[in-house]
Amino acid sequence: MSETAMKKALIITSVIILFIPIISWVVPAVIDDTMNPVTPHAPWPVSEQAQQLHDSLIIGDWHSDSLLWNRDFLKAHSYGHVDLPRLQKGNVAFQVLTAVTKTPSGMNYESNDTDAHDKLTTLMIAQTWPIKTWGSLYERALYQVERLQDLEQRAPNKVRHIKTKQDIDDVIDSRATDQPLTGLLMGMEGAHPLEGKIENLHKLREAGYRLVGLQHFFDNELGGSLHGKSNLGLTEFGKQVVKEASANNMIIDVAHSSLQTIKDVLAIMDNPIVLSHTGIHNNCQTKRNIPGKLMQEITNMGGVVGIGYWADVVCDNTPKGIVKAIKAGVDLLGINHVSLGSDYDGTIESQFDTSELAALTHEMLVQGFSKDDIQKIMGGNMVRVMKASLK
Ligand SMILES: [Zn+2]
Repeated sequence: MSETAMKKALIITSVIILFIPIISWVVPAVIDDTMNPVTPHAPWPVSEQAQQLHDSLIIGDWHSDSLLWNRDFLKAHSYGHVDLPRLQKGNVAFQVLTAVTKTPSGMNYESNDTDAHDKLTTLMIAQTWPIKTWGSLYERALYQVERLQDLEQRAPNKVRHIKTKQDIDDVIDSRATDQPLTGLLMGMEGAHPLEGKIENLHKLREAGYRLVGLQHFFDNELGGSLHGKSNLGLTEFGKQVVKEASANNMIIDVAHSSLQTIKDVLAIMDNPIVLSHTGIHNNCQTKRNIPGKLMQEITNMGGVVGIGYWADVVCDNTPKGIVKAIKAGVDLLGINHVSLGSDYDGTIESQFDTSELAALTHEMLVQGFSKDDIQKIMGGNMVRVMKASLK
C-alpha cells in the first residue's frame, strides 16, 4: 500500500468510526418513524365539556408495542405513538406494553409459516440491541421487560410497573394528587419466548410480566394462531401455560389465537380473559376480527375486548370510525365488556397519537354515550379485569 493509499484508508476508517454512534442513533429513529406513522391531520375537535370529562377519567389501553423501539420512553417524541409525556397529556393511567419477539416475513392475516424468516432479527441488529437478543426469543422478552424496569428506576415518581392489585390502586389514588403515576403492565405478544419451557414462564413472571398473549402471527408451541397454518387449538404445553399463568395471577390474552385455541382456553379458565386489540366483525369484516358469537363467549365469562385504532380492524380509523366500532362492540357484548386496545407502535398507521385521546371522548359524547358508559370504555372495564387476575 502506498503512503497516500494508507492515508486514505486511515481517513475513511476514522470517518466510519466517528459516524457509527450517529448512524446507530439516526437509523433506529428513521425506522421507528417510518413504521409507526401518524396520518397528518388538523387537530381533532374536542369540546370543553369533552376535555373536562376526559380529564376526570381513569384511562387504560390494553396493547402497545412501544418497547420494541429504541426511543427513550421518558422523553417526548415527534414520531411513533406512545411515550410517557404523551400518555400524561392524553391522561392515560394504565398502558399495557407488549413484547413482540418474532415476526415472519410476508406477515399477513390469512396464513403464515412458523418457520418463515424472522424479520425482527434485522430490526434488533439495526437498533444495536444486545447480541444475546439476536438469536433468542426468551432474551428478547427479557430485554424488553428490563427496559420497563429501567423506566421505573429512572422515574419512580412518574412510572409504576404494575405487578399487584395494590399497584393498580396506588396509580388510581395518585391520579387525584399533583404527582400522578402512570401504570405500565408488561405483556408478551405470543408466548413463543417461553421456548417450550414452563420454567421460562416463571422466570419472565419474576421479571415482571403479568399478561400472556398466547400467539402472534404463527402457530407456536402453545397452539394454533388465527393466522397460522394449522387452525389447531391448545397443545398440552399450551394448556399447562394457561393454567400456570392464571394460577400465578397473570392475565391471558387471546388476540391472534385461532378460534379453536380460544375455545380451549375458555374451557379451562375461571378468570376473565382479554382479547386485547381487535375490531368487531359485524362492523368490519376481516379474518382478524373473530366471529361475534365467540367474542360473546369471552365476555360472558367476564372478559373484555380492546378496540384497535388501525384501519384493518375498524375499517375507518378516524375517531368517528373507532367510536362506531366501539358502539358495535357495546351492541354485541354489552357496556361492561368493551375497552381500548390501540396497537400503538405495532407498525400501524394511526390518525392520532396517545396525547390526542380526548378526541375519542369527544366523539363518544357526540355519538350519544353517557358519562358512565364512557368511564367504563375508557378504562373502568380494563381496571376491573386487571384486578380480577392480579393479586
Ligand atoms: Zn397484534
